[in-house]
Amino acid sequence: MAKTLNHLKNKSPRRILVRAVNWIGDAVMATPAMGRIRAAFPDAEIVVVANPLVAELFVHHPCCDRVIIFDKKGQHAGIRGFLGFCKLLRRERFDLAILLQNAIEAAIMAVLALVPYRAGYQTDGRRLLLNMGVPARDSKHGLHHVDYYLFMLDDLGLAGEKPSPQLSLQPDEQQWAADLLTGGSWLAINPGAAYGAAKRWIPERFAAVGDTLAQEYGMKVVLTGGPAEAEIGADIVTSMKHQALNLIGQTSVRQMMAVLERCTLMVTNDSGPMHVGAALGVPIVAVFGPTDHTTTSPRTDKCRIVRHEVECSPCMLRQCPIDHRCMEGVTADRVVVAARELLESRR
Ligand code: SF4
Repeated sequence: MAKTLNHLKNKSPRRILVRAVNWIGDAVMATPAMGRIRAAFPDAEIVVVANPLVAELFVHHPCCDRVIIFDKKGQHAGIRGFLGFCKLLRRERFDLAILLQNAIEAAIMAVLALVPYRAGYQTDGRRLLLNMGVPARDSKHGLHHVDYYLFMLDDLGLAGEKPSPQLSLQPDEQQWAADLLTGGSWLAINPGAAYGAAKRWIPERFAAVGDTLAQEYGMKVVLTGGPAEAEIGADIVTSMKHQALNLIGQTSVRQMMAVLERCTLMVTNDSGPMHVGAALGVPIVAVFGPTDHTTTSPRTDKCRIVRHEVECSPCMLRQCPIDHRCMEGVTADRVVVAARELLESRR
């Protein structure tokens, strides 16, 4: 390869654009790669371009100096919106763009922003648009997403540490959560999954797990999730014997981060908030069904994965075409056993 990121280190790039990925969970799993970029270019201004939800993760993040929101569904919608956004980026006079997102749109954005060096995987037909492109790795078979992003940097000549995913909060955000979740230990239940219904475990079983842990450990229960999951939250509240604080659809991403960090344990589906909780050091019990736990499990030893082995998994479908046996087969008892293990290991 003629040019590598390592070669650029000597040129001390002044301002670097990092195009973040579009899903919360993937963006969290890309934070080790961002940490490596930060370590390689300590004096550069690192500017993350992200959609409005993902952007919240990177406000106050140690690997990022500034965030620019790309709102494709709002003010930057359509060709005009996109071109206007690229014009705005052009004024920033970036020296280098590192594209964690794989879409051709990210490469076109970097070209139209007149960024002289453009690095990323050669995915989505963008080989000619990247002058520092590397062949794509197969992200589907056993390669963890954290490594997928780190290997891209390895291939670009930027080898280094393999830190765990990391997020950070400000003291006032932590205080807000401490004022909200007062007294004793809290259990976060995250029953949604933005990707689709197939990834969601049964609400009544989440409720049973909440009741059992409230009974056995005196834990208080808080429900987390996005506005689209409000109905699931209402079902859980109705099913539970103990009272739960239902914050589903009530928090911003950063408030959700602060709530999760305050919790002693999180019980969750494979979802963005699962990765957020793990990156904030919260012990996690995660129920996996149609997705591949070898590639998207939280990168922490404070995690227990609960699965029911079925031949059709992982199918990666958003909706189950059969009887959802991968999730129906996971009992509340198995999740409680995993939760007890984590709680006892903390004592
Ligand atoms: S097809 Fe199989 S793995 Fe996929 S959601 Fe249905 S039961 Fe689960």
